[in-house]
Amino acid sequence: MTPAKVMPYDGGCTCRFVRYRMSMKPMFVHCCHCRWCQRETGSSFALNAMIEAERIQLQQGEVEVINTPSNSGKGQKISRCPKCHIAVWSNYAGAGDAVHFVRVGTLDEPDRLPPDIHIFTASKQPWVVLPPNAPAVKEYYDRNDYWPQESLERRATLLAKNLPR
Ligand SMILES: [Zn+2]
Ligand SMILES: [Zn+2]
Repeated sequence: MTPAKVMPYDGGCTCRFVRYRMSMKPMFVHCCHCRWCQRETGSSFALNAMIEAERIQLQQGEVEVINTPSNSGKGQKISRCPKCHIAVWSNYAGAGDAVHFVRVGTLDEPDRLPPDIHIFTASKQPWVVLPPNAPAVKEYYDRNDYWPQESLERRATLLAKNLPR
């Protein structure tokens, strides 16, 4: 933890109706090369920053939550600007509403959050060449093998508070 200077991460949609602020760095950043992310972004991968829902605040506007099919079959709730319909974050069934997967490309300074891991590289588009030492897995991975201890602890705290008993 570096309480001295915590720079927030601001972002929003394209029409600027939705503006949000992440109060601290995310727990982990996925660069997902699965076909679902390729289709949903219309591009080659999705860059998602995982952060506790309570650590992201809407500064302006509101989001519209769209239930969307997902690879797991359990669905994904995508939060979009109700005006320009750009997706700003989503929630997957796994961690539920407690963890937002923020679309890094919607940050004002997306360069601040490069991926911590590349996942589903089995369907990575061949022209996307990863840096030699970047953590990368063919499909998914075990969190304990890749997440920093601090992030594992943040997640454990969160789940203890949010999981239905
Ligand atoms: Zn908008
Ligand atoms: Zn994906």
